[in-house]
Amino acid sequence: MTNSQRKERKRYGREWKRIRDEYIKRFPNCEICQAHMKIVPAEEVHHITPLCRGGTHDKVNLLALCHECHQKIHEIDRAEQKKRT
Ligand SMILES: [Zn+2]
Ligand SMILES: [Zn+2]
Repeated sequence: MTNSQRKERKRYGREWKRIRDEYIKRFPNCEICQAHMKIVPAEEVHHITPLCRGGTHDKVNLLALCHECHQKIHEIDRAEQKKRT
């Protein structure tokens, strides 16, 4: 097994859970709702650049979101992928 393969396997492991919990502690409100002057508790952490496209668990690549905004962001993402292919 190569080094990169080993990294692939670990991308959604215990490490991610810890990073996600810490990130939500730091950003307890949904960042998209907050931009619209609404305070909604964040439930999920989104990767701006998906891991499958080379994204990392780095804070600059993360976004604290409520469930609704997270679903919406993935719908947009899926629609854009369809356009591309
Ligand atoms: Zn939201
Ligand atoms: Zn996401």
